[in-house]
Amino acid sequence: MSQEANPFESLQSQIDEAATYLDIGDDVIERLKYPERVLETNLTIERDDGTLERFKAFRSQFNGDRGPYKGGIRYHPQVSRDEVRALSGWMTYKTAIVDIPLGGGKGGIILDPDDYSESELERLTRSFAKELRPMIGEDRDVPAPDVNTGQREMNWIKDTYETLENTTEPGVITGKALDSGGSEGRVEATGRSTVIAAREAFDYLDKDLEGATVAVQGYGNAGWIAAKLIDEMGATVVAASDSSGGIYNPDGFDPVAAKDHKNETGSVVGYEESEEEITNDEVLTLDVDLLIPAALENAVDEDLAADVSADVISEAANGPLTPAADEVLKEKDVFVIPDILANAGGVTVSYFEWVQNRQRFYWSEERVNEELETVIVDAFDALVEAYEENDLDNPRTAAYVVAIQRVADAFAEAGSWP
Ligand code: NAD
Repeated sequence: MSQEANPFESLQSQIDEAATYLDIGDDVIERLKYPERVLETNLTIERDDGTLERFKAFRSQFNGDRGPYKGGIRYHPQVSRDEVRALSGWMTYKTAIVDIPLGGGKGGIILDPDDYSESELERLTRSFAKELRPMIGEDRDVPAPDVNTGQREMNWIKDTYETLENTTEPGVITGKALDSGGSEGRVEATGRSTVIAAREAFDYLDKDLEGATVAVQGYGNAGWIAAKLIDEMGATVVAASDSSGGIYNPDGFDPVAAKDHKNETGSVVGYEESEEEITNDEVLTLDVDLLIPAALENAVDEDLAADVSADVISEAANGPLTPAADEVLKEKDVFVIPDILANAGGVTVSYFEWVQNRQRFYWSEERVNEELETVIVDAFDALVEAYEENDLDNPRTAAYVVAIQRVADAFAEAGSWP
């Protein structure tokens, strides 16, 4: 994985590229390239052995022109101010391309959660929730899970917030467990949008998804669900990887059994239906019809992009291609469905969760999946319209053209404030 590209610079170059096709002043574009504010805070908690430890944490509120800030909270050693700023910007354009009435935010704490006990993580999460309390709320900023956080952490944040505010406000956070006001379909939503978008792209490109070969990099929540659903659509998953390495079988394998193997052993590596163990880079460069990067940012850099052989890429991860890699893939005519659309299922069902929380009325899984299908298909159609109208050669630019215009319109309609 390349660490060369600064994700915040990647975001800004994507905005600049799209801005060349938009009739929006440079001054407005400048505003749309920076977060409105970033909280940087130090959290000190007591470890189980009685010693104290300090952790740095961030929350970036990028843009609220279209609605409350929305975005996950990540626990990872590589969390940084720039990463959080970039991710909050991507959230802004993600909620805009799928046209849900929310803005963009993102947060994170620098730590490796594997090094801490559950009670230490609970104290840390509650401490962060206490810091976040004045800036979050169902009409202000609605956090959600991201890498290494899930329902457990969301439930702790909700409970801390509601206790301090002396209220019940389940819509303050999404990605909750069902019993705490979560939504049906949320766990599968990101993988689901990744494959709906891939299906639409195959249709647009007149390619057959039935029998198409698929490689999936990263076999966590987003990756493995995408593998399972694309298999159900008739495609053949031939390769997968996680942080320990990759597996390959040119005839395909059962993605659910590969996940069971990972659950039992900690990795897909060693799964019995695999013919060959391959490296992570080899998974990314296999000659397949569809590649699904579903790990972290910057997985594919310029050099690796030169070896990518897939025809279509559906970005389950956020920012898996560096801008230089994007250029190379454009030259090679690879159709890249950008992260802000491909993985928008997560935030879309988070939005449905928020709507259900506010109405105190809960939907069936079938309804959630149907509504998600409509949102992703409509977003893909809007992307294609901008792609064709502007004679673009990169679907990512088309997505940003649509999304930036929507945010700029909301800003313009609000008028100015001193
Ligand atoms: P996760 O922690 O469940 O899974 C991450 C997976 O990536 C793990 O299998 C891990 O082993 C693997 N991985 C890590 N480094 C790797 C490497 N170098 N090569 C190959 N595999 C590697 O996380 P997730 O929730 O699936 O998120 C994955 C990506 O999808 C992130 O970029 C995240 O921001 C994005 N995303 C997730 C959601 C969601 O709802 N889960 C929503 C939108 C975007």
